[in-house]
Amino acid sequence: MDAIARNLKTIQETIAAACDRANRNPAKVTLVAVSKLRSPEAILAAADAGVQHFGENRVEEAQEKLPEIADLIRDQTKAYDLTWHMVGHIQSRKARHIPVLFDMVHSVDNIKLAEKLSRLASARQPLDVLLQMNVSGEESKSGFPAANWRTDADVRDQVWSRTKFILKLPGLRVRGLMTMAPIVADMEQTRPVFASLAALRDALSESLGVALPELSMGMTDDYPVAVEEGATMVRIGRALFGE
Ligand SMILES: *Cc1c(COP(=O)(O)O)cnc(C)c1O
Repeated sequence: MDAIARNLKTIQETIAAACDRANRNPAKVTLVAVSKLRSPEAILAAADAGVQHFGENRVEEAQEKLPEIADLIRDQTKAYDLTWHMVGHIQSRKARHIPVLFDMVHSVDNIKLAEKLSRLASARQPLDVLLQMNVSGEESKSGFPAANWRTDADVRDQVWSRTKFILKLPGLRVRGLMTMAPIVADMEQTRPVFASLAALRDALSESLGVALPELSMGMTDDYPVAVEEGATMVRIGRALFGE
């Protein structure tokens, strides 16, 4: 077994163990392999090991790499059905490339971008999106400001009104929320951030009467905790492809 296949097995076992602890079904957790800076060959190796979902964080890199991967796949005897996720911050002027390249966007983090994607998707086909929420309050993180959404009425009003606005945009299917936890020494410290996103999803879903089934949270350093707290998508790079 090569390294990627071995790593995949470890990740799957880790997800299964976390699901076990939380009484969850591991089939409800999708691994999104974050393949930024990885070669088309490494991506194909992951696909061969059984990964179906891949995430990129830069438009330019995806524009270059996705056609190369399509070419590689065309040369194989086996059929591949890969799903592409955009997980990084999107500059407004690059938005037009998104619906062409990606099946799902995890990183809708401002109204302008949502409106742009809505226009583009309306002319094409519905686009699945997640709203990125900055629940940790870290300045360096993008996302709609959502720290202390439970206790700060202004934050809460903003999150609610922006979510309502985006839910009404044509062409977008809002599937749930995404967040990034701070980098910490002990992954246990990320738990309140993931729990806060899950609770925010529940609250929005109930008060707006919409299903928001997806929670994209957890990366290499913290995904077991994210899964325990309800992640339906984990975005993993280094644990799969190596450091
Ligand atoms: C790079 C990246 C990941 C994966 O990070 P690892 O720590 O390598 O697992 C997940 N999400 C986003 C948005 C990223 O940019």
